[in-house]
Amino acid sequence: MKMMKVEELRSLRIRCAWDGCRQSFQGAMPRDWRWLVSYWARAPQLALGPAPEIEWDCDAALCPAHAHALSQCLYPIVVAPVEGQVR
Ligand SMILES: [Zn+2]
Repeated sequence: MKMMKVEELRSLRIRCAWDGCRQSFQGAMPRDWRWLVSYWARAPQLALGPAPEIEWDCDAALCPAHAHALSQCLYPIVVAPVEGQVR
């Protein structure tokens, strides 16, 4: 797996991963977009970085419309607040 430098990631135009969607952004993620991450690990990982025990399936983004569409396909997931995070 090739790891990208932070500067390379910031210069990329990030596209919505939903098949057929043409929405995108560059730079800081707009407020209503969402990261879509899928991985296997023996236990949930709070710090998602390169680690040999994590098998990555997906690291992408969804535009607001498709983040909402995906959430409608899943049962309501309650996310535990992270210490120090403002909601
Ligand atoms: Zn989209």
